[in-house]
Amino acid sequence: MAKIGILGCESVTNEMNCVMIGCLGNLRSREGLFKDYPEDDPPELVGIINCGGCPTAVGSDRIWQKVQALVDYGVNAIHLSSCLVQLCPFKDAFITTIQTDHPDIKVVEGTHFFHDEDAFKTGVKELLSQRVVTPQRMNDLVFKRIKLPDEKS
Ligand code: SF4
Repeated sequence: MAKIGILGCESVTNEMNCVMIGCLGNLRSREGLFKDYPEDDPPELVGIINCGGCPTAVGSDRIWQKVQALVDYGVNAIHLSSCLVQLCPFKDAFITTIQTDHPDIKVVEGTHFFHDEDAFKTGVKELLSQRVVTPQRMNDLVFKRIKLPDEKS
């Protein structure tokens, strides 16, 4: 049985509240980038790590300890989440960090396919900039314009 880990994007997980439904759904049904695992010997998900946030150009080794934690449980492969593959400027550096010390671990670039990659990127851009639906901020409290929910009795 293949033991696998998933390396996800911290921004997508923490800023956009992604629950990895696409990654995990495709894993369960052995679709997307999990389709090559045999039906009679499905992969075991050992764990999910994420990058820890955008590193500097020389900071990709920040995932090293996290990868090591997966290695301790004998992973054979690490899937980069499809968000990371589509969005991350450090993708290749992360792959180098993994494969330099662990050339035996297979790195798979992706977890699931997108119906429309351009629409996905456009949507993420808005999620990050929040131009259309602006969330409330500390200044709304400071300037006494904050909107509050009706109090429950
Ligand atoms: S480094 Fe890449 S994977 Fe990590 S938060 Fe930044 S864009 Fe996402």
